[in-house]
Amino acid sequence: MPFSSLGLIPSLLRAVSAKAYLAPTPIQAAAIPAALQGRDVLGSAQTGSGKTAAFVLPLLQQLDATAFESPRRVSALILVPTRELCAQVGEEIRKLAEHMPRAVKVSIVFGGVSINPQMMRLRGGTDIVVATPGRLLDLLDKNALSIGSVQTLVLDEADRLFDLGFAEELGRILRLLPEQRQNLFFSATFPPAVQALAHTLLRDPVRVEVIPALESVPDIVQRAIAVDTGRRTQLLRHLMAENRWSRVLVFVATKHAAEMIADKLRKARINAEPFHGELSQGKRTQVLADFKASRLKVIIATDVAARGLDIAQLPVVVNFDLPRSAVDYIHRIGRTGRAGESGVAVSFVSVDTEAHFRLIEKRQGLSLPLEVVAGFEPVHTTTVAELSAAGSLFDTSNGGIKGHRPSKKDKLRAAAAQAQFNK
Ligand code: AMP
Repeated sequence: MPFSSLGLIPSLLRAVSAKAYLAPTPIQAAAIPAALQGRDVLGSAQTGSGKTAAFVLPLLQQLDATAFESPRRVSALILVPTRELCAQVGEEIRKLAEHMPRAVKVSIVFGGVSINPQMMRLRGGTDIVVATPGRLLDLLDKNALSIGSVQTLVLDEADRLFDLGFAEELGRILRLLPEQRQNLFFSATFPPAVQALAHTLLRDPVRVEVIPALESVPDIVQRAIAVDTGRRTQLLRHLMAENRWSRVLVFVATKHAAEMIADKLRKARINAEPFHGELSQGKRTQVLADFKASRLKVIIATDVAARGLDIAQLPVVVNFDLPRSAVDYIHRIGRTGRAGESGVAVSFVSVDTEAHFRLIEKRQGLSLPLEVVAGFEPVHTTTVAELSAAGSLFDTSNGGIKGHRPSKKDKLRAAAAQAQFNK
């Protein structure tokens, strides 16, 4: 199906062809016509599926049909959970709006940087606001803008925005929006609780679901490697050298680990930087820019980087520490294999994290063989190494290892992992 059959105006068709988007992705083909008709949309789509253009194109078309007012009034509000995603969405709008007959003014607002330039930009009004919730509220409190004229509300990564951390802020923002509006909610995952919440806000939504089961995503090869906790940095270096990985995004559980491992790699003359929430926004932007420009080989990141980042040609994601949940796992590995490129996602699994990893597998309907790399055989559990060497898989049905009854310790570990999921 070509873009021209979606009902888009010529200036937007020109923009998609300038971006070399040859045909709509499945989420675009399904969501764009519905959004153009003014319907609410609940879209669940994998990261990298092209969901940004799926909501940006209809917003721009709506703007094109709206009479120009001076000062400009905010017609679309896009809420996102992270600063990086904010910048990325803003960039996509800028490019797709390039050929619009009248200039579209987009304001990007997020915390961690000075509020004054954002206030200046909002003077004279704006057409579209892309915002993280906290900073948007700060600006609203300062009367820097009004969102009473919003015709369309977009929630990108809606599951995160409905999280407890954002719930109160989101509630305050919703109360300031007109009741009559279009809602476009997108997310990689829609757990039942989020769906229930979304349905209280949506009116007769068109449900668009194009989540492929992870195992059927052809361009991300998932691997799990058994390794003792203390040897993971060495294994990472070994894999980088052996596979000649050009760029690697490594996920860890804490800021401290990010700093420490980046330090170790730098001592081994590998160009690495940590990436976590305590770095200044300037530093985070710089690290990403260096990584994207291949000046940096490795980023050691906390889950701050798990969502939204779009890095072309990122061949490898490594779960040095396992993610807390299956949802985080999807987001992390979605950083690679974007826009049709191929990618590899490697998870390091130690004796202490086996049970947790099996739960992630179970949630994903996956069954990965646990590989053992020569020279890095785990010594803390002979069972893991022996079973893997023999090609056995874990039995996920009882939380134990195939052919073995789960020990008391196994059960405790599985219960602890389950508790993490239920958090
Ligand atoms: P997103 O899921 O919105 O983050 O998009 C992921 C990547 O896909 C971005 O780099 C987009 O530029 C790209 N993209 C979006 N739509 C298309 C399309 N129709 N054809 C090719 N690439 C696309």
